[in-house]
Amino acid sequence: MECTVPLGPASTRLLLGHGSSQNLAETLSLSGTRVTVVSDENVSASARGRVFPDQDWLVVPPGESSKCLERAAWLWSQMLALGMDRRSALVAVGGGVVGDLAGFAAATYLRGVPFYSIPTSLLAMVDASVGGKVGIDLPQGKNLVGQFYPAKIVAVDPALLATLPEAEWSSGMAEVIKHGILSGGDFWSQLLSFHPADRSQDKKLEALVTAAVRVKVGVVQDDPFEKTGLRATLNLGHSYGHAIEWCSDYGMSHGQAVALGLLAGVRLSRLLGILQEDFEPELSALLERWGLSGTLPDSDDGRYSWERISLALGRDKKNKDGQWCFVLPQALGRVQLVYGPDRAAVERAFSSLLV
Ligand code: NAD
Repeated sequence: MECTVPLGPASTRLLLGHGSSQNLAETLSLSGTRVTVVSDENVSASARGRVFPDQDWLVVPPGESSKCLERAAWLWSQMLALGMDRRSALVAVGGGVVGDLAGFAAATYLRGVPFYSIPTSLLAMVDASVGGKVGIDLPQGKNLVGQFYPAKIVAVDPALLATLPEAEWSSGMAEVIKHGILSGGDFWSQLLSFHPADRSQDKKLEALVTAAVRVKVGVVQDDPFEKTGLRATLNLGHSYGHAIEWCSDYGMSHGQAVALGLLAGVRLSRLLGILQEDFEPELSALLERWGLSGTLPDSDDGRYSWERISLALGRDKKNKDGQWCFVLPQALGRVQLVYGPDRAAVERAFSSLLV
């Protein structure tokens, strides 16, 4: 399966399906393109036997801490040492961290070299690798430096998920479930009938991943540079989610925080009279199925106090003129941006997670 995602003057070709990573490797090899791969220690161990075994691999430590200026500078100097020129290609083989970091290095080295991507985590397949955003973190916050630099080709190959740790499955499924709410309809039904055991069935897994990617593609196509507000809908569950993640000192996974954000969002939508179709029971069942808790962990240090959560909500990038902004569901397949919701309701919906 194949499709093209137009992103302003550039576009990304998406190859979807088992074996697509090898197809991309063959395409680059047939074109005679010189390739350097960026990966992390966890992924390179298994992926190198599958794609680009004879090319140069630049391998970084796994985890968010690699998405930093120092690693980017290390990549630039390695690319220089390898003699990469403007026709050489950089290929990311890894999760969202590797994709964002390698894309940033590709965008900036020699003012831009061709960039390709083979996402290996579920989150990177259905979210991070599509849409052209690349970048790094600063000590002051995540994703503060970067740009739009779409990969020329992204190969979404579900076969690579065979080695993905269980916790990363949960994290990725939170975003897949978010896409399910945004899309509703057939995709929601597909999600409800997909169980963890189905991951070993190639066709079922491929169908789920493909459907989830298409949700992101649809949104990005219609609002590539976040101008109309449509792309902001991908932030469903993320206002509460980011606040909870920050309050946990990033000890909680992004997916778990988003899962709690999705639940609190449905409840807030109900309290504000926006929710027209109550899908909370199905949502809760899905989250539980994928190992995502519906309640905050016990903590006696006050880290999830309303004071801290409201401080974090106040810093959300979607806020305007001091008004908090939430993406809230009206029904499956229908969400709306809400500015300045009643703060008592926001607190009540959040408090429902503290049982
Ligand atoms: P990650 O890249 O850290 O991967 C998670 C863990 O899974 C890592 O330890 C990694 O080594 C391991 N892993 C990945 N694939 C594996 C595989 N096939 N087998 C074994 N281990 C594997 O994190 P992530 O969840 O993939 O991505 C999160 C990052 O993505 C964040 O930095 C976030 O900001 C970014 N992101 C970017 C966008 C975007 O539009 N650019 C969108 C969403 C998220």
